[in-house]
Amino acid sequence: MEPIRSCIACRSQENWKELLHLVQRDGRVIPDPTHTLGGRGAWLHPKCFEVAKNRRSFNRAFKSNGDLSLHELEEYLRKVVRNVHPERSS
Ligand SMILES: [Zn+2]
Repeated sequence: MEPIRSCIACRSQENWKELLHLVQRDGRVIPDPTHTLGGRGAWLHPKCFEVAKNRRSFNRAFKSNGDLSLHELEEYLRKVVRNVHPERSS
């Protein structure tokens, strides 16, 4: 049986393969798609990123009161979820 995790934004329970694993490092939220980083993790549907951002779900998930940088996560999602954020390089 596959492990089940909850998305930090929509709270629905999901097979962990459908969710992106996130960890926190020095106030930054970092995507960990290969599950190689240690520490306290959180799980998120890539499509739920905007919801999580608006609800400050990251702060709750990582028990942080300060500002968490989402830059690396945003960059990752931009590359992976091209149809959500279509971009042209030239
Ligand atoms: Zn979700």
